[in-house]
Amino acid sequence: FDQLDGQIWFNGEFIPWRDAKIHVLTHGLHYASAVFEGERAYGGEIFKLREHTERLIESGRILGFTLPYSAEEIDTACSELLRRQGFSDAYVRPIAWRGSESMGVSAQKNRINVAIAIWQWPSYFNPEERMKGIRLDLAEYRRPDPRTAPSRAKASGLYMICTISKHAAEAKGYADALMLDWRGQVAEATGANVFFVKDGAIHTPTPDCFLDGITRRTVIELARRRGIEVNVRAIMPEELSDFSECFLCGTAAEVTPVAEIGPYRFAPGEISRQLVSDYMAEVTPKRIAAE
Ligand code: PMP
Repeated sequence: FDQLDGQIWFNGEFIPWRDAKIHVLTHGLHYASAVFEGERAYGGEIFKLREHTERLIESGRILGFTLPYSAEEIDTACSELLRRQGFSDAYVRPIAWRGSESMGVSAQKNRINVAIAIWQWPSYFNPEERMKGIRLDLAEYRRPDPRTAPSRAKASGLYMICTISKHAAEAKGYADALMLDWRGQVAEATGANVFFVKDGAIHTPTPDCFLDGITRRTVIELARRRGIEVNVRAIMPEELSDFSECFLCGTAAEVTPVAEIGPYRFAPGEISRQLVSDYMAEVTPKRIAAE
């Protein structure tokens, strides 16, 4: 991946992709003092760019650092890099981390670095394939208590248990894993939020110890626009057998129906289908939709 062509925005400059390197004694690598974003561009425009940039800045603040660029500067860098990369549909990955000026848990004076990379990451599935639904394992690790980890930040350190859980699921032939939280309530997948359907209404867990995804908020708005009732509440795993449909949503996953979670079965149906298509319409720039 580090040998691709193109450019990366690195601390204010556009540099060749292959030259975007950091030192092995980077604090972010050793102590996870890093925060990042995941964004998608559709038709040459980054969907909800400012919301992502603001979350990046806020994630840094939660980890105790200030990004040395304004939201305007980061937005401009993302948009200019997208243009330079020449993609109209692409994935955008800004990241900020503490540098290598000193080693040890304390790194007050280490530089805060910011970089942005953009590459092509097609939707996982075509619409027909997507409606078959993916299979999820139940993860062993749980999302931590917000008093144990800064769960509102999109912080690299919070992904350690996500990678372990996703690898364990993949080893058993599943696409992903559903994680419970420290109380034993349903939380989210390893990189996406989860929704359920029962009797024509939507149910989704309260995001009090995991990321309140930008896609999650978009999907709730789209569902309400269609007059679908949305219940945000604590969901226990025993309830999974009561739901008829289930889907994941996130920037990379978009809206992806789920067919199976461990022993539970779901039939991707009308509400999932509507929201898959409403989401695709919502992310498509208006000028393209009008063509
Ligand atoms: N939870 C986790 C753990 C994630 O990595 C993501 C993807 N960023 C989400 C939820 C969904 O967030 P968003 O819709 O903002 O991409």
